[in-house]
Amino acid sequence: MSADDAPTHRGGDAADDLNAFITRETVVSDADGPLAGKTVAVKDNISTEGIRTTCGSAMLEEYVPPYDATVVERLRGAGATLVGKTNMDEFGMGGTTETSAFGPTSNPVDRERVPGGSSGGSAAAVAAGEADLALGSDTGGSVRNPAAFCGVVGIKPTYGLVSRYGLVAYANSLEQIGPFGRSVEDAAALLDVIAGPDERDATTRYDAAEGGAPDAAGVPDDTHPAEATAYAAAADGDVEGMTVGVPTELIEGADDEVVAVFEDALADLDAQGVETVEVSLPSVEHAVQAYYVIAMSEASSNLARFDGVRYGVSGSEATGGTEGERGSSSEIDGGDGNWNESFARAREEGFGDEVKRRILLGTYALSAGYHDKYYKKAQDARAWVKRDFDEAFAEADVLATPTMPVLPPKRGESLDDPLSLYLMDANTVPVNLANLPAISVPAGEREGLPVGMQFVGPAFGEAAVIRAGSAVE
Ligand code: GLN
Repeated sequence: MSADDAPTHRGGDAADDLNAFITRETVVSDADGPLAGKTVAVKDNISTEGIRTTCGSAMLEEYVPPYDATVVERLRGAGATLVGKTNMDEFGMGGTTETSAFGPTSNPVDRERVPGGSSGGSAAAVAAGEADLALGSDTGGSVRNPAAFCGVVGIKPTYGLVSRYGLVAYANSLEQIGPFGRSVEDAAALLDVIAGPDERDATTRYDAAEGGAPDAAGVPDDTHPAEATAYAAAADGDVEGMTVGVPTELIEGADDEVVAVFEDALADLDAQGVETVEVSLPSVEHAVQAYYVIAMSEASSNLARFDGVRYGVSGSEATGGTEGERGSSSEIDGGDGNWNESFARAREEGFGDEVKRRILLGTYALSAGYHDKYYKKAQDARAWVKRDFDEAFAEADVLATPTMPVLPPKRGESLDDPLSLYLMDANTVPVNLANLPAISVPAGEREGLPVGMQFVGPAFGEAAVIRAGSAVE
């Protein structure tokens, strides 16, 4: 192979040092669909039949799902080649891919920096050319954040557009599976394949993809129609006459370098015939707090299933037993009849610090006596955020913000300071609270590091954010 033929890797060095994958396994599909010949990496919280799915946790180190998530089934149906399962913050809890039990992933643009998270392995794999496309999940920014930090495109779909069947839940009311690509069109083409109703996820919208009710039979098509290419077609860059709202509150908190790139990109859109208007989202000042109360509350409940009996690190292991002994109550409880102790031991060993912190805080927020003070207040703030977005969309087709308020931090810088990490999510979490669609596209660079621009649309307005994004790249 001549130097000219060599694949270009953004970071230059050998791609394997990135630690983008937890499990590398190639599964070729013989289906002749829209993704034939494309390689796709899948975040390790999305179930793959026969391939372990760890969620970046020691708790699930050996867990092999007996079924495929709906999105994986659709990938196979579309002819994609699966190349492996990507690294992530444990159970999706984080924004840097440093809370993984399998070690951190490097940013291919600058290996000393984080790739963002929690879907950092997926973004890094796509940026480095280790996969053409990837799937991540976005509960509070986990697709858009790593897309911005690695200089690729990521889409967070409207809640209910993509099936969550087979996604290991972190905070169900907030999260969606979303695509990564090196271009807006690529990411949109992957969205075309995974979007659409699924009878196994009752929160999917039957009228979402096509704007109508399910077909006469009323039975959703599990393998999603290959002819649906509406999202990829929207990546036409034709933004003339579009109105873009800029929410002042989400620009104020961003670093100067980031704002400079953002403003250049807005000026470029202006030159393409876009009208820019200022809009206000006063409620977003409460969004990070509301998001973390809701996300941790849901997580504390979702993660209760990891008790060492049904999945993962077992109480019998913790008490010196063997895997074969699981299921026998006298062995699981260590023979001393103390189930609580056995569960506690499994959870002590199986979960990392950030996961434990969130389970504790979430349990606290839901406790009798505190529920009204925290959880209910957070739900009120969530409703307010939704109303603010509704009002903004009366004035603009889409909203634009910097995706992340900062440049990608160095590895090891933020782990000891969870609060600063949570604040990094200021521009992404409002979108999840309001269940809206958004895209992050590379808008430029500062200090050799990529800066992402986010477009947010009204519910099921994916085509509009894809169109706007395609005018920037
Ligand atoms: N950083 C946010 C969190 O830790 C978002 C994570 C995500 O979207 N999975 O909750």
